[in-house]
Amino acid sequence: MNIELLDIDGYEDVIHCLDDDVGLVAFIAVHSTRLGPALGGMRVLPYATEQEAMDDVLRLAQAMTYKSAVADTGFGGGKAVIIADPADKSPAMLHAIGRAIESLNGRYITAEDMNIGEADLEIVREETRWVSGLPQSKGSSGNPSPYTAVGCLASLRACAKACFGDAALTDRSVAIQGVGAVGSELAWLCANEEMRVFVADAVSERATALASESPNIEAVSNTEIIEYPCDLLSPCARGNAITESNVGLLRCKAVAGAANNQLSDASIAEMLNDQDILYAPDYVVNAGGVINIGFEFRPEGYDESDALTKIETIEDTLAEVFRIARADGTTTLAAAQKLAEQRLERGPVNAA
Ligand code: NAD
Repeated sequence: MNIELLDIDGYEDVIHCLDDDVGLVAFIAVHSTRLGPALGGMRVLPYATEQEAMDDVLRLAQAMTYKSAVADTGFGGGKAVIIADPADKSPAMLHAIGRAIESLNGRYITAEDMNIGEADLEIVREETRWVSGLPQSKGSSGNPSPYTAVGCLASLRACAKACFGDAALTDRSVAIQGVGAVGSELAWLCANEEMRVFVADAVSERATALASESPNIEAVSNTEIIEYPCDLLSPCARGNAITESNVGLLRCKAVAGAANNQLSDASIAEMLNDQDILYAPDYVVNAGGVINIGFEFRPEGYDESDALTKIETIEDTLAEVFRIARADGTTTLAAAQKLAEQRLERGPVNAA
């Protein structure tokens, strides 16, 4: 395998990995290890060009630095992308990327992302210990989605406190767009809090199946969910849930969901502000999974209850983001970035 170190401004390490024998073409980016080893998932996608793959890995690695910094995980930001049709993924290819990860000597820790699941990571683990999110039965932290949902619930509490003066969620209403791995867990958590839960999914059977199992959950049409009248809106499907064309239709008091890049661009945060709708920045809300993963690498080993305690602190982190936004007269998006930058500047003191 040929590993070439690329010199990219603002990044600690970017490597290009090529192994013709196994069909591997990949990039691994370590954006920052200022707060700890760079943690971030690995994805397999049929990028049209190497440039497109590199742009993606650089953008995602930097986003992981900010996400981990604001969540105070004690980790930095990194990412890996493999350029391939997911159908062509092979054990040999996964072994090769494992060797490339090992060559970074623990500066990058990988995890699940698009088209990379637990079984793939188990193969990568045969080459390197710098792999997270393996099954809990193997002393690892397991699937991050339920923990991401716990962080979303903590975020709903922070929003309720900021909007209604009380963090209690009982009898509040929430509309959840997308009830996949995270959204379905969140729907259950909200139902258990005695909230009124409205759910929708592009695959409508997922929403109706959930609704059939709890009197607190009601399935609504996917075309209506974004503008459904509710206290709290939780986009848990895909990016670009809120755009210039639908932002004016929202009938909620706050937005807090798991989906990455929920706002089609940063100007939507200003529009939400103008409509007096509180926006909980997505990367603060959805940090539960990454916080949980981080607990695997403590010297004393993974402990679920410690991880859950830390995930609950997302509520306080958001309260701080809202406070900064009020004090500075900025959007919550700008405030979250400021908080992340303050933590990067401060350095690694409060690591998990
Ligand atoms: P998932 O694929 O399991 O679920 C997504 C659900 O959304 C599916 O049921 C899908 O049918 C539905 N969906 C897709 N497009 C839709 C649309 N336009 N309208 C309504 N429903 C739609 O994914 P997930 O793991 O639950 O993740 C959800 C989001 O949260 C993604 O953006 C993901 O990147 C982000 N996220 C997930 C985690 C995690 O731990 N899984 C962590 C951080 C961020």
